[in-house]
Amino acid sequence: MIKKTRTDIETVVRVAIPSPLRKLFDYRLTDASSSPPKIGARVRVPFGRREVVGVVVEHADDSSVPESRLRRIIATLDDEPLLGAALIRVLQWAAGYYHHPPGEVWLSAFPTSLRKGVKTRRAVAEIPRADTEATDSPPELNSEQDAAVNEIIARHETFAPFLLEGVTGSGKTEIYQQLTDRLLKSGKRVLVLVPEIGLTPQIVERFRQRFGVAIAVLHSGMGDAQRAREWISAQGGEARIIIGTRSAVFTPIPELGMIVVDEEHDGSFKQQEGFRYHARDVAVMRAREERIPIVLGSATPSLESLLNARSGRYRHVQLTKRAGAAVPPEIQVIDIRRQPLSNLISKVLHDEVLAELNAGHQVMLFLNRRGFAPTWFCHDCGWIARCSRCDVNLVVHQRSAQLRCHHCGAEQVIPKACPKCRSENLHAVGTGTERVEQGMMHEFERFGIARIDRDTTRRKGTLESMLADAATGRARLLIGTQMLAKGHHFPAVTLVGILNTDQGLLSADFRASERMAQLLVQVAGRAGRGETLGRVAIQTACPEHPLLSLLLKQGYPAFATQALAEREAAELPPFSHLALIRAEAAGRDAALAFLGRLGPAAAGVTALGPTPAPMEKRKGHFRAQLLLLAKDRGALHRLLTRWTSQIEDDVQSRRVRWTIDVDPMGLF
Ligand code: ADP
Ligand code: ZN
Ligand code: ZN
Repeated sequence: MIKKTRTDIETVVRVAIPSPLRKLFDYRLTDASSSPPKIGARVRVPFGRREVVGVVVEHADDSSVPESRLRRIIATLDDEPLLGAALIRVLQWAAGYYHHPPGEVWLSAFPTSLRKGVKTRRAVAEIPRADTEATDSPPELNSEQDAAVNEIIARHETFAPFLLEGVTGSGKTEIYQQLTDRLLKSGKRVLVLVPEIGLTPQIVERFRQRFGVAIAVLHSGMGDAQRAREWISAQGGEARIIIGTRSAVFTPIPELGMIVVDEEHDGSFKQQEGFRYHARDVAVMRAREERIPIVLGSATPSLESLLNARSGRYRHVQLTKRAGAAVPPEIQVIDIRRQPLSNLISKVLHDEVLAELNAGHQVMLFLNRRGFAPTWFCHDCGWIARCSRCDVNLVVHQRSAQLRCHHCGAEQVIPKACPKCRSENLHAVGTGTERVEQGMMHEFERFGIARIDRDTTRRKGTLESMLADAATGRARLLIGTQMLAKGHHFPAVTLVGILNTDQGLLSADFRASERMAQLLVQVAGRAGRGETLGRVAIQTACPEHPLLSLLLKQGYPAFATQALAEREAAELPPFSHLALIRAEAAGRDAALAFLGRLGPAAAGVTALGPTPAPMEKRKGHFRAQLLLLAKDRGALHRLLTRWTSQIEDDVQSRRVRWTIDVDPMGLF
């Protein structure tokens, strides 16, 4: 082939396309005389025998694809790029850092209809913006809050990461709002990321009541049409405040002035499938590219962020007092060893619940396990109902008379006779939230009971109505899973009971104790938010557990110091970097063999495995994993880059589904 001179070659456009391949695809312009579509604009292109929508990522003047095979762009969908320059750099970084196909990464910045090529003007028939008047006026800040606001606002024109560590109720949200107020006045916009809006509509309400400006709300619970409208109002600059969950971190926002990540420790910021990004980490990168401050707020910061703050990479702003009138709750440990438990509730706790309810207060009981019971057991032969497609026991759901798999969703009617020995001596063993509720029903129904978990809130509107019952006091005994722990503000709650603390203390996952501590503190934060003193009762069979006693006696910062020391000694994150390669296949050996073919890890990277996954069979597939651990992030990423291209070239791998999880949260 004769190499052409540069001037003969029209611009080549590199496009991110929804494809599992970790590469961009080259195209020629629609016709030689047209000007190239801008970076960040969507284009419609031919791909195999299909037409797809992609995003322009680069312009080039050369391609490794021979000119004769280089296909032409069919149409440019956006004259102006929908994504700003900083966001474009963030997406480029994210595709590399998470070793994920760029097409999926880039398209995750768009709502579904726009991914399919709908023009922005068509997607939005009308943006309903009857924004409410601000009804709420700001309180006078206390001196800690005032110092925090001043320190953060002083750096509003540069990249400046802050960890805002403040006990629950210390007025962090108030700080976000006062910062927002200042930034709005200088013409900026603010992005607020929250763990789950469905669970905590309060934060949106609080911003609406404080600010009489257009607010865009983005979360996965909304239909695509509405999501597209909200996105366009953010992208077009009409919305001044954007509040959203994880994926909102990729929303284009002109003149972005600050990012807030509320409850930054929350695990739901990490996407657990497909493009496994961590929205908090992406947000920090975005703030860097936008050159703006970012505030990571939490009462129980992640060990990652705490280390960054303690080492000076982030500024550490602390709030030590509760704002307003509320006082911190008193904590009581109930040793349940040799105590009779009735549906997980000790006599001591039972009596306290009754006393609080009789006094007209509200009580919250917390158990991290939904369903009636975790096992359906034959007393005569020991048979246990298992899922046929996953390596787990089926969970008893008594009200619906079903056994259900919490991993693949399989359901069946509860068998009355044992399939192995025909005995009818079958029992539900163990306790979930449904059983706690049922056990308390008789005695406590007169106070109004609301059980809040994924089972009772599946139908649209049920969560809202239960939260309303809780807020008005119609339901005074609240029983729930961690859904209850998130940010709700029920001033009448004076007692919070934690029924089984020990799951977190005894688990093999290295993050379990961190999560347990965060949950305990967050749940405890639900007590005594009003004017009455709150109390937290913790039931445990290991009251002397060192991390638990440290947490209870000296609080979360002391716990975190100790937990960080343990992580450092074990060379675990945040003192090292992890990546998990998961593989699954129809046969037991294929997934393991696939990981085995990768070969030895590079110098500086420790490989643990390949091993069968802790839950080897899931949804009928066999799973294996390879855990990589490195002190040096660079060495780990170079190895992942080499391996991903090796896998993509390996024909034997076609039957194996594989994923890379950079900075995995769970190792399962
Ligand atoms: P956090 O977000 O840290 O849990 P909030 O911002 O929700 O705390 O504040 C807790 C409660 O205290 C809220 O009811 C809030 O309105 C109130 N509050 C916050 N700051 C002040 C203040 N400076 N003076 C009086 N009340 C305040
Ligand atoms: Zn049996
Ligand atoms: Zn299953």
